[in-house]
Amino acid sequence: MNVGLNVRLLFLVLVLCLVSEPGFASGLLPEASAQAIHYQNSQDWFWCADQAMGFVIPLVVLFSGLGNRIAQGCIHLSGNRRLLGIALFAIAYATIDFSLNLPLAFWEGYANEHHYGLGTDSPGQWVKGQLIGLIIRLITVSVLTWVPYSFMQAAPRRWWLWTALTFVPLFIFTHLVSPLWIAPLTNKFEPLSDKRLEARISSLATRAGIVGAAILVKDQSQTSTLPNAQVRGIFATKRIIIFDTMVGQTNERELLVVVAHEMGHYVAADVWKIIALQSGLILLALWLTHLLGPAAIRRFESRWGFGSLSNIASLPLLYLAFNLVVLATTPAINAFIRSIEHHADRFALDLTHDGEAAKTVIVKYAKVALYVPDPGWFRKNFRMDHPSLDDRARFLNTYHPWIHNPAGTEGHGTSGL
Ligand SMILES: [Zn+2]
Repeated sequence: MNVGLNVRLLFLVLVLCLVSEPGFASGLLPEASAQAIHYQNSQDWFWCADQAMGFVIPLVVLFSGLGNRIAQGCIHLSGNRRLLGIALFAIAYATIDFSLNLPLAFWEGYANEHHYGLGTDSPGQWVKGQLIGLIIRLITVSVLTWVPYSFMQAAPRRWWLWTALTFVPLFIFTHLVSPLWIAPLTNKFEPLSDKRLEARISSLATRAGIVGAAILVKDQSQTSTLPNAQVRGIFATKRIIIFDTMVGQTNERELLVVVAHEMGHYVAADVWKIIALQSGLILLALWLTHLLGPAAIRRFESRWGFGSLSNIASLPLLYLAFNLVVLATTPAINAFIRSIEHHADRFALDLTHDGEAAKTVIVKYAKVALYVPDPGWFRKNFRMDHPSLDDRARFLNTYHPWIHNPAGTEGHGTSGL
């Protein structure tokens, strides 16, 4: 494998993504308020702190020798049953990582959101959400961590490939069951009470070629004021989810255009692109660990306390490699997801022909979400997985082919659907 060529290609992709096009105001969005600028700056700093923690925690656990001591304790506790020892250490490491991240998570996810009037949850609800997240994480790591470590013993040269391939059906399974088993743990999902609106959404779905997707309302107002919508699930678990915050803050035309955007994700099968992306990132991280891990272990064996990658004490090294791959590819991943989102915007306009409602909903969202129209190169490349609202507004200003070709379209113009 030509490592030099791969590194150069990665560098080229990063450079291409970092070159942002010169922006110009769409004329649609108001100037950012001082509060919005402060909020977005705080989000930038939190993002940097989150990234730093992703490196500091595994490095501290490795170099302090703590990881190896706990790993040996877990092996001892398991009575030398390897799979049980792996599960115990995976749980111990995830608990350490969670605990060390907790103060930052509280500051970022609770205190700061409430400070800017965006959070609506009580401290008890926040703690409950964190505990549910921790339990799901502990179950997941205890079940999955044996996969790489079993393949490291069974197929030392290709363990990274077999592990990544094993994870693909698991990612698919997660997307399949998440709406049924995981999402209801923290939120309520109920059918739309407005049956006339439900009928209009169903008719929109039929025109989009979507059959059998449930339309549900999520009680997002329990935790946040942000209006939004989602698509979740695959096959029989597919559903269009409208946040209850949207029902109160947007009119019917605006809601329909947002829902049409979500339908665009279905029609383009975007969930499968995300599964492919997740699988590719895992593959890259495991391959990097396979390539560089043994040399790093030889170099630091006396401090880390273990001499082989197949020792469960190397688990922080796998997390380190994954965090490194995610950080290095973030601009490229965000650019890819932004292109998916742009196509969903186009789909929504093609389906509804309601550019006016799309514009007014953008202005409302910018106000509620404390949005800064011009994100700047750092925010755009590292934090934004949606086109900036200014970019979206510029697109809305120029994209309206149905006006020139009314005979070839099915929509109902700007008067709604
Ligand atoms: Zn979207």
